[in-house]
Amino acid sequence: MPQTTSSTARLMDGSALARQMVEQAAERAAALTRQTGQAPCLATVLVGEDPASVTYVRMKRARCEKAGIRSRHIALPAATTTAQLIATIGELSDDPGVHGILLQHPAGPHIDERAAFEAIAPAKDVDGVTFHSFAAMSFGLDGFASCTPGGIMRLLDHYDVDLTGKHAVVVGRSAILGKPVGMLLLGRNATVTYCHSRTNDLAAITREADVLIAAVGRPRFIHGDHIKPGAVVIDAGYNPGNVGDVDFDSAVTRASLLTPVPGGVGPMTIATLLTQTVDAASRQLGATAV
Ligand code: NAP
Repeated sequence: MPQTTSSTARLMDGSALARQMVEQAAERAAALTRQTGQAPCLATVLVGEDPASVTYVRMKRARCEKAGIRSRHIALPAATTTAQLIATIGELSDDPGVHGILLQHPAGPHIDERAAFEAIAPAKDVDGVTFHSFAAMSFGLDGFASCTPGGIMRLLDHYDVDLTGKHAVVVGRSAILGKPVGMLLLGRNATVTYCHSRTNDLAAITREADVLIAAVGRPRFIHGDHIKPGAVVIDAGYNPGNVGDVDFDSAVTRASLLTPVPGGVGPMTIATLLTQTVDAASRQLGATAV
């Protein structure tokens, strides 16, 4: 566990690490294109025109383009049915020109999102949202990680956080974030506790954490007094106004390592998506050493 020499946490620079990852993904995408004559291709699927979702998809496509990854965008009307969405995703799953598929969440209240996710071929599930990917991740087998949890693990590794035997507390248990990050931490020999909205005396549990992951979706929910002095604190939250789930000002005086918002976990999510898209393309195109 990193030691602090002062009472101020060292910040974990997700922006810088993500930049390195994207540069590597771009180099690999270029090598793959030279070797196979095909650039990696990510298909993005958006149902409706929710402004936040439109922005997220645009941002992801722009990052792909900068990294030499092609993107194919499928914009479906808000009235799309689950059956139509599954048919569209099924076609992309069968299309050899598409190597990764991202269905932007949320797809809409009338859509059976789980059924739609399951139409993504596991080999193309670069966002790590299918049952297959979750199971592979939980069993420590080959498969794509959910992007935010995968990004968090890379950040912890980059800052040499030794997880073996450490108590990791995850606040949040969503399918895309809390649950998978707990599984990845368990796979690295941390002792994992999940907290959620029904947890009794949450602060008593978080104060036991050597590694605390905030994935709550509530602005500044985790305060300094939730944090054991010297703990590593990862703020996965992203709330309106660029505010995380951790109260930065009080946390920074307790933690040894802390992710800022913005510039911590957020950039790592997209960098992981690009990296996994290149991984998927490399496997599907049978490229050697890319
Ligand atoms: P979510 O699906 O709403 O899940 C939130 C979790 O927090 C749930 O498990 C919920 O418990 C728990 N929770 C809510 N209120 C609580 C309380 N008072 N005490 C304890 N636990 C409580 O959210 P999510 O999709 O996991 O996202 C969480 C945060 O991460 C959000 O801020 C989101 O914007 C951010 N995020 C960031 C990225 C990124 O790329 N940076 C990606 C994804 C998400 P129950 O299960 O009991 O309801």
